[in-house]
Amino acid sequence: MNTPENDLYQEVVLEHKRAPRNFGHLDHPTHQARGTNPQCGDNIAVELAVDQGRVADIRFSGQGCAICMASASMMGEAVKGRDVEWARQLQQHFRAVLTGETEPEAAPLGKLVSLAGVRRYPSRIKCALLGWHALMHALAQEAHSDAGAAVTLEETP
Ligand code: ZN
Repeated sequence: MNTPENDLYQEVVLEHKRAPRNFGHLDHPTHQARGTNPQCGDNIAVELAVDQGRVADIRFSGQGCAICMASASMMGEAVKGRDVEWARQLQQHFRAVLTGETEPEAAPLGKLVSLAGVRRYPSRIKCALLGWHALMHALAQEAHSDAGAAVTLEETP
């Protein structure tokens, strides 16, 4: 059976790759982190403007495969304007679906469900999670740290 959730490159994924949302840089990020996935060559940075526990704004930059870029683009749309804690929970749901701990139908993923097909392609799971790892590392940073955090996905997620 070939349900939409099982396709790796859904139209919405390709569309986000073609025109990534929130791509670029913030003038005054409060938190930032870079993530690299050596296995695929994905390398993206996430910048946040966190205000009173809320992700007021978000940008990402860098290069990656379609899955990586589309996931980061959808991540920005999903978490922008949301509470930091809500973003953390969404990351956990998304990760649980991709690693097979949770079925897509059981997780409140919203549009991110279009990336659920990645779970059938273990080598691409890191691609889909890279932006989210960078987001979590950025949020774990002290505000206004100069260097930002860096995360490399060497282990399986
Ligand atoms: Zn990739």
